[in-house]
Amino acid sequence: MKIAIFGTGYVGLVTGVCLANLGHEVTCVDVIDEKIAKLKKGEVPIYEPGLAELMAKNSNRLEFTTNAGTAVKEAEVIFIAVGTPAKPDGSADLKYVYEVARTLSQEMDSSKVIVIKSTVPVGTETEISKLIEEHYHGEYAIVSNPEFLREGSAIDDFMKPDRVIIGTSDQKALDVMLQIYEKLDAPMIHTDIRSAQLIKYASNAFLATKISFVNEMAKLAEKYGANIEYIAKGMGYDKRIGHEFLRAGIGYGGSCFPKDVKELIHTGETVGINLEILKAVDDTNDRQKSVPVKKLKDRIKLSGATVAVLGLAFKPNTDDLREAPSLEIIRELLEAGANVKAWDPAAEEAYKKIYPNIEYSKTPEDTLRGADAVIIATEWDQVKNFDLQQVKQLMNTPLVIDGRNAWDKNTAEEVGLDYQGMGK
Ligand code: NAD
Repeated sequence: MKIAIFGTGYVGLVTGVCLANLGHEVTCVDVIDEKIAKLKKGEVPIYEPGLAELMAKNSNRLEFTTNAGTAVKEAEVIFIAVGTPAKPDGSADLKYVYEVARTLSQEMDSSKVIVIKSTVPVGTETEISKLIEEHYHGEYAIVSNPEFLREGSAIDDFMKPDRVIIGTSDQKALDVMLQIYEKLDAPMIHTDIRSAQLIKYASNAFLATKISFVNEMAKLAEKYGANIEYIAKGMGYDKRIGHEFLRAGIGYGGSCFPKDVKELIHTGETVGINLEILKAVDDTNDRQKSVPVKKLKDRIKLSGATVAVLGLAFKPNTDDLREAPSLEIIRELLEAGANVKAWDPAAEEAYKKIYPNIEYSKTPEDTLRGADAVIIATEWDQVKNFDLQQVKQLMNTPLVIDGRNAWDKNTAEEVGLDYQGMGK
């Protein structure tokens, strides 16, 4: 099948490369010349394990362009995978999606299946149709096909999904979608378009709820001298609950959960429904980011202290900094007058644009050397597997605030670290 994809970000590029891997002819379109130039040379502009290799393997079925017109005319199916960031009021900013719809309106000259892969609020398809029909008066169908991949394991998530959601009322478009994904071994769930859009938001909001829930339980565990890791383990064995997303920490970040929870709250408010649980989830998450610095302030005077921060990305195996808890942690540390030394194996370059004046180290060892305290903000493997004996030797004072529960409390204490985790 001939497919055009708008947007070559974390979702668009992975979708393009994986669809080519399934045997389709894919043209990836973006508005950023620099990105497309890199992709044409076989370079991947984002950090995503395995993506460069899979892109190279499928290069004969992949094209990259800024020329939307040709891509649209040649494609049978068009995926919209551009960003939908949050506006200050929490609602999704749909300007990029609408810009693509305007382009389609100008460039479409025959029937197409238009697939909304971006996460968009329920009802967005109506505005997309309106924009398309400004200049295009032929046939077309719209499908909502939300994406559930996780950065860091995006290829596996795309190629082996738990389910594929296909929201459309058009039988021909449904058949096309089933054909696109026929090689995937996953349940294909056919719904109406609005249910598909809400499935995406409801899924992310539910996972965010699990995280905020376990973070609240962590606070309780800490006060009563219990251990949240045992509690989560004990809960997780209940099949109705499951182990996933029950890790206490400094809260969720990234390009999806924070904005999707906020948008869903906004979606409710638009029709007079107060989604109280989600408001609490959002508030809990905001407060959680401040826990590490509060814990430090209880122990040491931060003004003039050297604080190491291990990990900056919102989670391991990505360079994505959107809504990363480390951003708030470092803001609070600097505000309190601390000297910050930071390390991240993927996100340093992006971080330098936000915090150019903190010290960046090339290794976790260099970050810890001479520090008065350390905060673990991202549980990269290099952090999880760090020799704890060495931590004590490297640091000036071995005060550890483990925001991700990356280290074992007993082992840390046995080697003489002054260790505080989250909820244990
Ligand atoms: P991103 O910001 O990484 O990428 C968006 C890309 O779209 C950018 O390269 C941008 O230049 C391009 N773009 C903007 N306007 C364009 C236009 N008119 N034509 C062509 N390209 C254009 O975004 P992302 O993280 O890939 O997210 C895309 C969507 O997928 C969002 O709605 C997001 O909520 C959703 N989503 C993201 C993830 C994730 O893990 N990142 C997972 C599931 C769903």
